This record gives sequence, C-alpha cells and structure tokens, in this order.
Amino acid sequence: MSDPSRPHLLTAAKLSPMLMPQIEAAFVVLDRLHEADPAAFAAVAPQIRAIAASGDSRVPGDLIARLPALETISVMGVGYDGVDVAAAKARGVMVTHTPDVLNDDVADLALGLMLCASRQLPAADRWVRSGDWAARGAMPLARKMSGARLGIVGMGRIGQAIAQRAVAFGMDIAYTARSAKPALPWAFVPDVTALAACSDFLVLITPGGAGTRHLVNAEVLRALGKGRGEGILVNVARGSVVDEVALIEALEGGVIAGAALDVFADEPNVPERLRAMPHVVLAPHIGSATNATRQAMADLAADNLRLHFAGQAVRTPVPECR
Ligand code: NAP
Repeated sequence: MSDPSRPHLLTAAKLSPMLMPQIEAAFVVLDRLHEADPAAFAAVAPQIRAIAASGDSRVPGDLIARLPALETISVMGVGYDGVDVAAAKARGVMVTHTPDVLNDDVADLALGLMLCASRQLPAADRWVRSGDWAARGAMPLARKMSGARLGIVGMGRIGQAIAQRAVAFGMDIAYTARSAKPALPWAFVPDVTALAACSDFLVLITPGGAGTRHLVNAEVLRALGKGRGEGILVNVARGSVVDEVALIEALEGGVIAGAALDVFADEPNVPERLRAMPHVVLAPHIGSATNATRQAMADLAADNLRLHFAGQAVRTPVPECR
C-alpha cells in the first residue's frame, strides 16, 4: 500500500477479468472499498487518484467529492451515463470511455435481435425442443425483415454501423438524432414519434441519462403500432430510454407486434410481465459481450489510465472532457 510509484485506484464495479490484471500491475487497487468497508475507505480516500468503472457503474458526485486527489475516471464502456461528468469536470477530473471498438458487436446484436423478433427464432427453437413440431406441425408464420422500414433512434457510431448492416437486408432506413447528418444517405426525421409512425422496426441506440429518459413512451409506441398491432421495438441503448411500464402495456395490449430488449430499467431485474410474454425476445445486456471486443475495451480503458499517469494525452476522453 505504501509504494509511491503505484497510485491508488478505486474500482466502482466488479471489473472485467481482462482489465483487473492490467490495473493491478500499475496501481494499488481498492476493489469497491467504498461499498465493502466504508471506514477503511474513509481512511484511504485522500490518496485515491483514479477510478476504474464499467459502462453500468455509478460514480455519483458525492463519491467524487470524497476524493480530493482524484485525477481521472476510466470507464470500460462507451456509455457513461452513471458517471457525474459535470461534477468531475468541475474538479478538473479527466473522464475517459471506450468508443468505436464495440461498434461491430453492438450492431451485430441489434440485427440479431431484429431477426429474432421478426422471425421468432427463440420461439422456433422452443417449438423443436418441446416436440411441438412433431405434435402440432408447422409454426405460425412470422414477419419478413428484408425490405422492411427501419427507424434508428441515434445515428452515432453504433447507429451508423446498424444502418450499414441493414443496407444488406434491403431495408428502407430513416433515423432521428439531435441533429441531421447531411453526409449520410438516410432520411432524417426530427421527431421520434413521426419516425415510429413510418417504421416497421424501431431500433434505439442513443446514450442513456436525463437527455433521453423515456424518449420512447406510450405515444411513440402507439405510432409504431399504427393502430394495427404492427411494429417491433429493439432496444440496445439503455433501459432508461424506454418507459418500461408503457412498453409492457403496449405489448400486453397488442399495440405493437413485439420487442427485443438487451437493456432494462432496473438491471438485472426484468419484470415478470415481460418475461412471461412469448413475443418478447430478452438478452442480458450483451451488446459488447464477445471475447475480442471485451479485450479491446479493457486494453483501451487500461491505456487511458496508463497515458494519464505518464503525463500524456489520453486516447478517448468523453466529449465533455475534450
Ligand atoms: P454516439 O456516437 O455518441 O451516438 C449517440 C447518438 O444518439 C447520436 O447520434 C446522438 O445525436 C443521439 N442522441 C443523443 N441524445 C439524443 C436525443 N435526446 N434524441 C435523439 N437522439 C439523441 O454513441 P455510440 O457510440 O453510438 O453509443 C450509443 C449508446 O449505445 C451508448 O451511449 C450506450 O448507451 C449504448 N450502448 C449499449 C450497449 C449494449 O451493451 N447494449 C453497448 C454499447 C453502447 P447527435 O449525433 O445529433 O448528437
């Protein structure tokens, strides 16, 4: 604990085994000490110079306020809505994240979920395993994905990777974002309800946080359903982007045709009403969860820490800290 060449680092979550050895080699690591042992944490807090976090970690302003020597927060994830960046920035604390290296994986998953929801792949698997195929014959017919209309909510790094893949499916693509992207060939629809009204699939890929909270509400879901129980909602963004109660009601009431969800309002707790619906496809927040991508994210998160303490520019600061 006394080696002055190794700064003290607090982890804000159970970190990836791909990241832990890298930070243990360079830091005195205090693994979630603020939660595990508040008295020991209070004693060592003045020495803590770094926080390592995951995309779903919480680093609130009151934690930052208790760390007078804090210099940097490295998030292993592109989303950093759990970090009070305003509080960090006000103190001159550098916040970094891991954009780009996970674009392919999250976009692959979005297309996979679209196929699962439209072609009912989990139900098809159950149909075979349960013996229904032999006992009941062919499955009910599904919905076609190729050539359908795709609305993408959020046209950033991952949104563009989703659109590129959807081109190969011959989909008719439109999007919403805070601002239009004139360089992109797809139609910009400023209003999310208007986008839903002209989409067969609505895919969410914005950041979480206050700016997007409940962006998809009952009105947007009604527009997606078009009064005929159509439309499939796919959420690979954050659970907070959807009013989950309104979504459950829309699914139970047949307002929309189905949903495929990788993220939820209160992870890992998924409402029983959602889990009970066979036309809902559920995944446990696995957007970036491949070996190759998690390794790239861990390496980038570790690199940002290493560069900061070497007095060099970090590779991927969050936009607010650029
Ligand atoms: P990004 O490049 O920053 O893109 C975010 C997009 O969202 C931008 O187009 C932005 O619009 C748009 N946006 C922001 N606020 C909006 C609002 N209020 N209404 C409409 N659009 C809004 O981020 P990214 O790298 O693509 O990542 C996006 C998010 O995906 C992350 O923040 C994270 O929450 C989520 N994610 C999930 C997983 C998973 O495991 N499921 C994995 C990785 C990421 P402008 O372009 O006009 O600014």
